[in-house]
Amino acid sequence: MKLIQNYIDGRFVPGKREFADVNPADGTVIAQVTEADEAQVDEAVQSAHRALRGEWSRLGVRERAVRLRKVADAIEKRFDCFVEAEVADTGKPVSLASKLDVPRAAANFRVFADLVKLSGLESFQTETPDGTNALNYAVRKPLGVVGVITPWNLPLLLLTWKVAPALACGNAVVVKPSEETPSTATLLAEAMQDAGIPNGVYNVVHGFGPGSAGEFLTQHPGVNAVTFTGESRTGTAIMKTVASTVKPVSFELGGKNAAIVFADCNFEEAVNGLSDAVFLNSGQVCLCAERLYVERKIFDAFVDALTRKAESLHPGWPKDEKTDLGPLISKQHREKVLSYYRLAEEEGATVVTGGGIPKFGDERDNGFYVQPTIYTGLSESARCVKEEIFGPVCHIAPFDSEEQAVAMANDTKYGLAASIWTSNLKRGHRVAQQMNVGITWVNCWFLRDLRTPFGGAGLSGIGREGGMHSLNFYSELNNICIRL
Ligand code: NAD
Repeated sequence: MKLIQNYIDGRFVPGKREFADVNPADGTVIAQVTEADEAQVDEAVQSAHRALRGEWSRLGVRERAVRLRKVADAIEKRFDCFVEAEVADTGKPVSLASKLDVPRAAANFRVFADLVKLSGLESFQTETPDGTNALNYAVRKPLGVVGVITPWNLPLLLLTWKVAPALACGNAVVVKPSEETPSTATLLAEAMQDAGIPNGVYNVVHGFGPGSAGEFLTQHPGVNAVTFTGESRTGTAIMKTVASTVKPVSFELGGKNAAIVFADCNFEEAVNGLSDAVFLNSGQVCLCAERLYVERKIFDAFVDALTRKAESLHPGWPKDEKTDLGPLISKQHREKVLSYYRLAEEEGATVVTGGGIPKFGDERDNGFYVQPTIYTGLSESARCVKEEIFGPVCHIAPFDSEEQAVAMANDTKYGLAASIWTSNLKRGHRVAQQMNVGITWVNCWFLRDLRTPFGGAGLSGIGREGGMHSLNFYSELNNICIRL
């Protein structure tokens, strides 16, 4: 059986304990994974500090950018291996991994290789009331060793989204990928070797959260900052852990995202766009819409059309090009999603479609599939309308006025993303600006420009990454004041 090992100081290293990597499509074990103990996490952090004192710190921005581009090339050279590993770990359709996850990983390295060269100096000429003159300028320095903790839903995409800017700014990283999806972070180590990234700059420690590699990493005094993507309550736990060593954090957390569909929208575009927004990656994208508000005039027609889309989705083997709906990530996560399916009925929902488990009559029945599901009829205070489910499911409610739609969309503790569907440009701007979220799309969803700010308000996160926002987080400013 394949063994996925930790990667420390440029070497793949085994450990004392192992855990299973399970294929969510049929429940089979595809690999064993080495769990890093506290001593190995410490070794990874120490090796990152050694790397910071070595060749890496002397490379300069231009050469770092050259090597980051080589990492992108090395990912593309292994394109098929990355796609295969991502599909096996996550169960996501091969069409999605090859169009989204792996190309975005390469793009993450290229965009930050370009941007880091643009980040200039800030300078201020100072004149005090007593006539003293001074020149101030601020230099950007790496933070040091960055702990990177990532989830299972877009494993390589989200990992490289953080590793690329961290390395562009001259840091070294210790990454802890999700225990559910350990493969591509480990494959990335090979790409780093190909690209000439010095030993110790990129380290991988595998394991779980509390009492395991995740917690060992966040509590380590040698880790200078933590960047995390995952559930909001994990963010709370990490925040408590890092408080004692006052580490800067960047958190990209959960969501309960709303979409507002006005009667004047392009109906077909709205249905197609929201079918993606609800069901892509089996609803396991933090940006997915789980609350749809539709103007009453088109409510019935919209529910019918989205139902037809849900029922035309093709759940299947992830490797099959025709599959557009894979399994959920794990048995445990399916239990959670199914518990919400049951709860919705207890809370009085009308099940428009789905609500259960598909039957295949083959090994996929041992996998973790659920039916795409649409509910109507819940009150706005129902738990299924308030809590993140993270599956292929949405609730659709009617609205009568713009004001009411905005109020319902904003009635959440989360604040990640929203989408507005209207052909009235003024209304699009007006409503978008009232959304209490980090990103609002108008007549589209998940259209990303990597230079733009990305992150969430409220329970959905702290800070913004993307473009210069990433470079600001992954560097420390030292202001130098020179009396003239
Ligand atoms: P999770 O919080 O359970 O786990 C994420 C990572 O944190 C894993 O690597 C896990 O091992 C680690 N971890 C868990 N407890 C820890 C602890 N106490 N200390 C240190 N590390 C710990 O999240 P998940 O189930 O893997 O991912 C799904 C969640 O991620 C959803 O809530 C989703 O909305 C969110 N998400 C957010 C974004 C975003 O950009 N805002 C993107 C993707 C996913």
